[in-house]
Amino acid sequence: MADVLRGLGVSAGAAAGPALRMGRVPRLPAPRTVTDQAAERAAAREALDQVGRELAERAARAADPAARAILEAQALIAKDPMLAESCDGAIGAGLDAAHAVHTAFTQQADGLRAAGGYLAERAADLEDLRDRAVAWLLGEPMPGIPDPGHPFVLIADDLAPADTATLDPRRVLALVTARGGPTSHTAILARALGLPAVVACQEALAVEDGTLIHIDGDTGAVTLHVTAAVIAETAAETAGSPAESFAGPGRTADGHRVPLLLNIGSADDLPADAATDVEGVEGVGLLRTELLFLGRHDAPGLDEQREAYTRVFRALPGRRVVLRTLDAGADKPLPFLSLADEPNPALGIRGLRTSRTRPEVLETQLAAVAEAAAAADADVWVMAPMVSTAREAADFAARVRAHGLSKVGAMIEVPAAALRAAQILEHVDFLSIGTNDLGQYTMAADRQCGELADLLDPWQPALLDLIASCARAGKAAGKPVGVCGEAASDPWLACVLVGLGISSLSMSRAAVARVGARLSRYSYGDCVRLAESALAAADAAAARAAVTSAS
Ligand code: PEP
Ligand code: MG
Repeated sequence: MADVLRGLGVSAGAAAGPALRMGRVPRLPAPRTVTDQAAERAAAREALDQVGRELAERAARAADPAARAILEAQALIAKDPMLAESCDGAIGAGLDAAHAVHTAFTQQADGLRAAGGYLAERAADLEDLRDRAVAWLLGEPMPGIPDPGHPFVLIADDLAPADTATLDPRRVLALVTARGGPTSHTAILARALGLPAVVACQEALAVEDGTLIHIDGDTGAVTLHVTAAVIAETAAETAGSPAESFAGPGRTADGHRVPLLLNIGSADDLPADAATDVEGVEGVGLLRTELLFLGRHDAPGLDEQREAYTRVFRALPGRRVVLRTLDAGADKPLPFLSLADEPNPALGIRGLRTSRTRPEVLETQLAAVAEAAAAADADVWVMAPMVSTAREAADFAARVRAHGLSKVGAMIEVPAAALRAAQILEHVDFLSIGTNDLGQYTMAADRQCGELADLLDPWQPALLDLIASCARAGKAAGKPVGVCGEAASDPWLACVLVGLGISSLSMSRAAVARVGARLSRYSYGDCVRLAESALAAADAAAARAAVTSAS
């Protein structure tokens, strides 16, 4: 095996330490002959109960709201009576409890995977629950993150949501996975926890436990057999890194201002005293309002929405809060929108398009936003996801302004919209580029497909071209064009985006210090040169290499 493995750096920073692979999933022994089906049924239910309880306890302990929500959802699935009944059915057909649980969960997971889209993603959750329940039945340790009693670099095929959610960043120094992509669940949570991460690094699975390795979450390099001195140096650099002391505001070394903003799902994602304690952040660049709607059978009413938005606006007096209207459909299905079964949901009725069939849902949301904005003195901006044409942008702008909200924007997530940014800007006050979706649609690569991680790499020059043309349109119109996709969380890419003419960057809280610190070390002219070298590269890897080696 080579001494340097290559994957995709998806969460910035460096770390070094002993590698440890994820606890293995239990291996089923040969089936037992069942003599007492009632006892097997009781054992299967006890296993599901145990797993549900354990996940609920972990949810209660989880400090991070995203982690808590994932664990709570997992615990609920474990308690789903339909799954218990499927296990009973398999026991009735003659299987012992462990094989019955395995069969029932595998069948359900296969069904979800065959359904595709968001449901397919949930298959991994079911398989994770299955493995936990089977391990309990076999008296084996739960599969998952090892606990050797010292810090380590975790290597895994891919991480189950429950594992990612409970990672303890004091123990786990960095993540390396064989699968996953830049917008995968693992990558997003790694960034939220501030852990360096490399995904799509297949060869890492062959690294022996205990091997001393160095991870570079910027370049995607995983270096094997490093010395103890490298480990000590990396630890010292991380502890004393300038990123730790970044105080804001966002600007280049020569003072070119670039507001750094937060991506949040609700007021719970803000620091306790957001008005004063925002670590160099100037506000919220993406409030993903769909989190209030997810998992609900009825749309939240006007009062509930007003209250939720008011909490965010009140936490940020005088600061910018960019609220995105409901982004449902595709990977975020909402039962009450009762969207038709679509053969290809990512290309179907999603984002702003849901207002074609359910305009009243958008109307209620805008009314709630307007009332909340009037009840607080945040600087409220409103934008729509998945805008495709200037006409859609104009219609949306008219609706928003009819509610007395004055700052209206369009997200640029569809290549058509990027190509017509100038025309869209005739109708709106700002653009915000969602690089996660713009990347998937530009490259025709499903953002949930880890095998296409190289195409989904936000360093793809084609994506950078579209971003550059939006920034030019913004400059010509004298209107701001920000980035709120995950690309803004990558410190090197953030410098490139600024060099392309992007005016603000919105990211998870954990990314702010690194992005802000990196930006403060380069002049605006340096950023322009870095952007030119990225645009001139033949592919994503070459673009990243050109920028990281030019520094
Ligand atoms: C994006 O697509 O880049 C974006 C910010 O939106 P989301 O990830 O919520 O789809
Ligand atoms: Mg999007």
